[in-house]
Amino acid sequence: MFDDLKGKKVLVTGSTAGIGLEAARSLASAGARVAIHGSRSADAAQSVLEQFDGGSDVAYFQADVRSSAACKALVEAAADHLGGIDVLINNAGGLGGRNGLESIDDDFFDQVLDLNIRSVVMVTKYAIPFLRKSAEQSGETSSVISTGSIAAREGGGPGASLYGGSKAMVHNLHRNWVKEFTKDNIRFNTVAPGTIDTAFHEDKDQGTRDKISGTIAMGRFGSSAELAPAYVFLASHAASGYVTGQVIDVNGGQMCP
Ligand code: NAD
Repeated sequence: MFDDLKGKKVLVTGSTAGIGLEAARSLASAGARVAIHGSRSADAAQSVLEQFDGGSDVAYFQADVRSSAACKALVEAAADHLGGIDVLINNAGGLGGRNGLESIDDDFFDQVLDLNIRSVVMVTKYAIPFLRKSAEQSGETSSVISTGSIAAREGGGPGASLYGGSKAMVHNLHRNWVKEFTKDNIRFNTVAPGTIDTAFHEDKDQGTRDKISGTIAMGRFGSSAELAPAYVFLASHAASGYVTGQVIDVNGGQMCP
């Protein structure tokens, strides 16, 4: 089913850890050529490259995707290395800190929105010509997959209003881009994780983790490995060529009000 991923050129932002790393590892195992990305130096990323199966075709690119210029440079460098882009995964993102409404200042506002929105908008913008060309040349769809969040639906935890709002914007941007780019055979889908055991939750004590687990039907946090197959499915034209504009929730039955 996923044989068509062999040799596919894939850029995964925010893939040095957590969900992005597992998605990149799964795609590389399926035979894709993967540009992985993070903000750490190439030297520091060496330990990340070592976590891929032997024989994987993987290269690392450093960029702070809060900057539009860095987004442009990242896409160009990855496309130059891969010889194009068939699949883009916008995964870089994060809380950026917690602040109640009355504590939000301009710096915090910019930090959260730049990390979660500017990055997705600008990386996608600069990747579009490559994705369009990929679809034209292959006769198959190319694919953009962004990481949304359960917070986009339920508002986010304490102090995470801007984060939840920014993820809701990610979900909605995709719905608009479906209208603009389906004529170019580019698909846009979102994976919305629930509560996944990554560095994202390292600020939580055991009591808080237990309380959150109690809101999840499966009674536990998910793992990055449990998220990765959703990205593989949405990357594959053979598997999901008629799927666009969708949000796939992977959350162990954690319900939204
Ligand atoms: P993580 O902190 O392990 O991964 C975040 C990734 O983004 C890392 O690779 C990091 O290098 C990269 N990154 C962060 N800031 C960056 C910057 N300025 N420039 C470049 N790269 C940057 O956490 P994760 O849980 O794997 O998060 C991945 C995505 O999943 C994020 O978009 C996050 O919002 C989303 N998400 C996570 C959860 C969860 O429960 N873990 C739930 C919903 C959504």
